[in-house]
Amino acid sequence: MLNLTRQMIEIRSILLNIGGSNALRLPSIVVIGSQSSGKSSVLESIVGREFLPKGSNMVTRRPIELTLVNDNSLAAETAEFPALRMFNLTDFQQVQKVLFELNMAVPDADAVSSDPIQLTIKSPRVPDLSLVDLPGYIQIEAADQPTTLKTKIRELCDRYLEEPNVILAISAADVDLANSSALRAAKRADPKGERTIGVITKLDLVDCETARKMLTNKKYPLKMGYVGVITRTPPSTSLFRRQSGSQAFIAQQNFERAYFKENKDSFVGTTVTTRMLKKKLMRVLERTMASCLKPMHVIVSNELEEASYRYKVEFNDRDLTSEKYMAQTIDNLKLAIKEFSERFGRPELRSLLRSELDQKVLDSIALRYWNKPPAPNKSKETESEPPLEELASAPPNDTYWHRKLGIATASLTKLGVGRLATTLISDAILTEIEVLVDNTDVRSHPMIKNAIKDAAVSVLTSRYNSTAEQVENCIKPYKYEIEVDDREWMLSRQHATMLLKEELKQCNEAYKELKKTLGGNKLKQITTYLENENNKVGENIARENLGFSPGLLLRGKEALFLKERSNLLNMRLKFLQSSGCKSKDNKYKCPEVFLDLVAEKLTQTAVLFLNVELLSDFYYSFPRELEKKLGQSLTSEQIEQFAKEDPKIKKHIELQERKDLLDLALTKIEDVMALQKRLV
Ligand code: GDP
Repeated sequence: MLNLTRQMIEIRSILLNIGGSNALRLPSIVVIGSQSSGKSSVLESIVGREFLPKGSNMVTRRPIELTLVNDNSLAAETAEFPALRMFNLTDFQQVQKVLFELNMAVPDADAVSSDPIQLTIKSPRVPDLSLVDLPGYIQIEAADQPTTLKTKIRELCDRYLEEPNVILAISAADVDLANSSALRAAKRADPKGERTIGVITKLDLVDCETARKMLTNKKYPLKMGYVGVITRTPPSTSLFRRQSGSQAFIAQQNFERAYFKENKDSFVGTTVTTRMLKKKLMRVLERTMASCLKPMHVIVSNELEEASYRYKVEFNDRDLTSEKYMAQTIDNLKLAIKEFSERFGRPELRSLLRSELDQKVLDSIALRYWNKPPAPNKSKETESEPPLEELASAPPNDTYWHRKLGIATASLTKLGVGRLATTLISDAILTEIEVLVDNTDVRSHPMIKNAIKDAAVSVLTSRYNSTAEQVENCIKPYKYEIEVDDREWMLSRQHATMLLKEELKQCNEAYKELKKTLGGNKLKQITTYLENENNKVGENIARENLGFSPGLLLRGKEALFLKERSNLLNMRLKFLQSSGCKSKDNKYKCPEVFLDLVAEKLTQTAVLFLNVELLSDFYYSFPRELEKKLGQSLTSEQIEQFAKEDPKIKKHIELQERKDLLDLALTKIEDVMALQKRLV
């Protein structure tokens, strides 16, 4: 017997998880009663623990779907809130607190919410039952409630009171039954009194004759009858001490038993005591559930058929769970990383670093060679600086130009190539990974995107210092000496020429653009004015700006600079291509070529180490780190949340879950039906 109800309650829970229409609901016992009718006391004495929140200000704002599971393997009661993933709670004050908070989360203005709280209590002392504690009927009666709220509460309650649920209507014996709001509501939902059990509490407060009359109520006869109980707190355990556990309930039941024993004769032919109530509830629930099994079998079969059909048509029967989707995502990412590793290797490292160093070379030369020396009378030191035009004809042992090349070379070799190169490549890898991620399904999942980025950053950070140090160590010899052979010189000469040509091109284009925006004539006027001004420097003549705005003057200066730079670049290009730069022995006359060669040597050496220390290591460690961050560190809720962020995947997974649950429910229904047949 017991086993059957247990299995049916299990089926009921499965069906509840499927959600959807009310049709997929196996009956439950719905408990109603006005405030102070003793409703909480009845529920708690069935459970044997105090667990319901107390308070006069409407503490039940959401239906509590209470599943009781008889479990003889347990030493004491345990509670769980499956939806909150809180399991094995043994502290019932905590249960009370959680229930209180869940209820209070419903705003005062809403009064009630139809979203039920699911609570399961397992104990060796509870019967297998499924009960629903509904928000108080008192609110419907309360005069100060706006009508809309009253309607809302009534609608919520009425939905639960519908067939096939059993109604447990609680009324206190010290209030005239004609005034019992619970019985009134039950009568509305079940006019023939076929699925209502009446409970009369506080029988100790009335004389036995009145009590007897109530239990055999003729005015509202119930097929399943009335049960009389005394669930008052025994005087020996005060309201506060009741929290001490199940002891208080043992005392209460002893008191109840003693009372009915003492007045045995008055209660002949009636059903009394909490123990009998429990038994009755089990019997009624089992019977009601059993009668629903056959129609439920039909409903579940139809639903399953429909879900399976949609699954086949929409998803081609392809099996999918959140975990599988996550595994697939990781595999896709790994594949994308592998493809990326084939695209991004040594040549790409080289070209990245080389163009960065090319820029440094140009900056260094511009700073030390191409910039026009400051006006002669500005400072004594710079007065002796020879102009660049003299470099081509300088004698071979000219110390000034030799020293200048030394300084320019050191500005490259002592640049901190180790850090520069490691940062450059790390940043490039991170950017590439971001692009790669944006090309996969993960693009719309911020949480996963961050986890991937974290994985990449953590691998790169772990290698950063050692890579930077290794690179710096390996380029160290160049800080002292740079050997050059003819072939290297020739290649660098070509490359430097190419760079200068490109620089010249950009310079001319910028000049042209300025000319276009200002107009040729205007530009000429401004530059002529500026040139005259330059010649007057030091003459202390009052300046007139001829009406040119500061912005225009700035552009004019820019144009002059570009023109000079262009002349200079033309001169240097001509020299680079002449016999003056043909031989490496003339390196101090050709700083553009020599520094290019330094950049090439630094690049070559750095790339060797960057490739081994950073890139290859990244390709090895990143997929593993990814697996760790995505596959192992995420909780199942996070994985589910991730999978369901994609609406199509969500639909797929949810349909599969529905189909699986329907399938499970159907199998269980069939098992129970087979068992029933055997028992008959
Ligand atoms: P609820 O508001 O309907 O949940 O009612 P409670 O269960 O909180 O009970 C209201 C009051 O009635 C409490 O003070 C209980 O101790 C008291 N009470 C409950 N059942 C009985 C009973 O059977 N006999 C007596 N004398 N008092 C009871």
